[in-house]
Amino acid sequence: MAQYTPMIQQYLAIKKDYPDTFLFFRLGDFYELFFDDAILASRELEITLTGREGGGDERIPMCGVPHHSADGYIAELLKKGHKVAVCEQVEDPKEAKGVVRREVTRVITPGTMMEGKWLTDKENNYMAALAALDGRVGIAACDMSTGEMYVTSVLGQMEAALDEALQYRPKELVFCGVEALPKTALPTTVVESHQLDAFAVDNQYPETGKELDVSMRSAVNALLYYIGTTQKRSLAHMRLLKRYDSKQYLQMDGFSRRNLELTETIRDKTKKGSLLWLLDRTQTAMGGRLLRRWIERPLLGRAELDARLEAVEALKADLLLRSDLRTCLDNVYDLERLAGRISYGNANARDLIQLRLSLTAVPELKAYLEQTKAPVLQELSRGMDECADLVSFLQSALVDDPPISVREGGMIRTGYDEYLDKLHSASRDGKTWIAQLEQSEREATGIRSLKVGFNKVFGYYIEVSKSNIANVPAGRYERKQTLANAERYITPELKEREALILEAEEKMIELEYQLFAAVRSEIAKHIPRLQSLAERIASVDVLQAFATVSDERGFVRPQLVDDGEYVIVDGRHPVVEAVLEREKYVANDVRMNQDERQVLLITGPNMAGKSTYMRQIALITVMAQIGCFVPAKEAKLSIVDQIFTRIGAADDLVGGHSTFMVEMLETRHALQKATAKSLILLDEIGRGTSTYDGMALAQAVIEYICQRIGAKTLFSTHYHELTGLAETMKGVVNVNARCEERDGKLLFLHKIEEGRADKSYGIHVAELAEMPGWVIERARSILAGLEATSSAASDMQMSLESLWSAPVAAVREEPVSLLSSEEEEILRDLREIDLNQTTPM
Ligand code: ADP
Repeated sequence: MAQYTPMIQQYLAIKKDYPDTFLFFRLGDFYELFFDDAILASRELEITLTGREGGGDERIPMCGVPHHSADGYIAELLKKGHKVAVCEQVEDPKEAKGVVRREVTRVITPGTMMEGKWLTDKENNYMAALAALDGRVGIAACDMSTGEMYVTSVLGQMEAALDEALQYRPKELVFCGVEALPKTALPTTVVESHQLDAFAVDNQYPETGKELDVSMRSAVNALLYYIGTTQKRSLAHMRLLKRYDSKQYLQMDGFSRRNLELTETIRDKTKKGSLLWLLDRTQTAMGGRLLRRWIERPLLGRAELDARLEAVEALKADLLLRSDLRTCLDNVYDLERLAGRISYGNANARDLIQLRLSLTAVPELKAYLEQTKAPVLQELSRGMDECADLVSFLQSALVDDPPISVREGGMIRTGYDEYLDKLHSASRDGKTWIAQLEQSEREATGIRSLKVGFNKVFGYYIEVSKSNIANVPAGRYERKQTLANAERYITPELKEREALILEAEEKMIELEYQLFAAVRSEIAKHIPRLQSLAERIASVDVLQAFATVSDERGFVRPQLVDDGEYVIVDGRHPVVEAVLEREKYVANDVRMNQDERQVLLITGPNMAGKSTYMRQIALITVMAQIGCFVPAKEAKLSIVDQIFTRIGAADDLVGGHSTFMVEMLETRHALQKATAKSLILLDEIGRGTSTYDGMALAQAVIEYICQRIGAKTLFSTHYHELTGLAETMKGVVNVNARCEERDGKLLFLHKIEEGRADKSYGIHVAELAEMPGWVIERARSILAGLEATSSAASDMQMSLESLWSAPVAAVREEPVSLLSSEEEEILRDLREIDLNQTTPM
């Protein structure tokens, strides 16, 4: 260490505390990075790597970015999953003895971003903590940009806890009292994971929530502790903790959420094409985020759902009111994030103007809401605090169009502060005097082209063209600058006025900054009011979004019941329908209940629409249970407590499990957790193993669900043998996805109807996929043989031998071509070509 210069020593001492972080070290107008940081950053940011003498044997690698454009570079590093520590000069270099004192003022991590430009409007930016203690795992999540904080806990299983935590799609995960999972074991959306010592964490915040269980408390503390070590300032906006029990909500595991494409698509992980995308007609960022939360947490309580549905109904019925509301909401900025920045102390004057404009929209919003009859909307309106005091305060304090920077003045309105006004008039008077000077000096000297001007280097000056120099009053004018064809002068009076103006301006800027900061802190005292207002506005926004989309897409209000009935008339898959155009989508019914029709066994060929039908039912359930209307002509739905899905297997080859193993794990999960109120969707269970094996498993699963659980279940299968269950087991009903054969081709009608599919259309599908003709022909003949054999045997008792005894040999005698007849012809033509007769061409 000793060989280095004092500044590099200071750098190293600070860097020691931030080993895994890019240290942005302020040096004048630049942030510099040194050593390995510099090498890595120059690569990540594509900036030039230079070097600097630092007292050591070799030059120290260095690269830097200008401080005013640092944000962009920081954002870039954060996006790549890095952390940045910002180290500022904390004393005036002019007054410093020796090296200027520097301190890290803030560590920015992906989970603790505050600035709007680094965040997505309609998405929260969460980080979450998991704390295992006393046989429970606490899960806490917070979004620093909005101040939300949630906590819950689950019984001992890490798996379930992780599932809960990942629902927030946290950018960072903090583990407390358990070993941190390596990044590779976490979804790519989690860019950081940390491990904290439970003991240290709890000692730090002994006062946290006495009402919480220890695991929750530790999880919350772990978050607070982590935030405390990275952010070194007020977190007053971190709203009151919201504690919940995940059993309050419709439960779905991560797999089902992804599979149903609730908030993003499976294929490219984007919002477009998801249920969220379809329903998102929100006008505000807060509404957009709340919609996402509602979709992630559908409700179970009928009263609350009916209240939402009633509001949607009222808004759906009144197009005019709705469009007024939408226009009004358009004027509301992101109150939650504004509040966050205000309390964090990085809001600028424009942010406060946005706040004022948003608040100004509230009385109108309330007036619209009071026109409706829906109690929820009335209640939301009544609870909205217009914050008239804040509006008039901001109105009196700030001008309408302040600059972005808070260090240039120009923010405070005349009349707000007497002293500031005095400074203003001093500066104005000075400027008027100077403005008049031009005229008076022209008269005094008789030089008509004389001009008064200003530049940054010399300040105010009097300019006289070369031809008029003779008339310049020598005693009074002092020459300052010579140009090609003019001379510039100053006079003592001019300089005196100038000094007054500059002094006033300097004072004004400083005073304005102080006044502004005071206004901001005053507003910060009212953050809870703003946050509660924001919440209400967000709810209104989501309800109007539901009404808007329901109106545009012809959704109907579902009737929620408790008697186990589940009936959908002409139901549609909301997203597929939207993509397909409405006319092309074939609507389908569902009729289920608690006794006669509890398991629907769906048969039909691939591509016939089985899984779309199952997803459609799950989505309609989710939509109803967030309080939205549903894509159907009529729907009477029993409230569902959990949804389990096992559809498709493209995306889940995790941790070395085979597809079949994953399928079994997922099915086990459903069998363990489901209740009579659950909805289970199983797509071709058992297909991953040999026929009899799979069929036996499938049947046993159906029996178990039917006899022991009683959950409503949709089970699609290729095993036609299973359709016999409908006759032997109460509650099992056959339905099939209808297809028709026309001219030897298969036509998918996408219509689900009662009864079993009568034939396997697999070969037709293979034909559509343009399998070689030989394979199709061969398959047909094998099938014919199989059918002949199996019709003799009873459904479930076919023996394997009977399968193998199909008349394979008979076909084999005739050599069969792999090519189609057209291709055969071409081949024949090719054979007949005499190469010796052809030209090189
Ligand atoms: P399966 O699960 O039976 O193999 P899918 O549900 O995947 O079949 O459906 C195959 C395709 O048919 C889907 O991509 C979808 O575009 C279309 N489809 C499914 N159901 C319908 C419907 N009810 N109306 C119109 N098209 C549909």
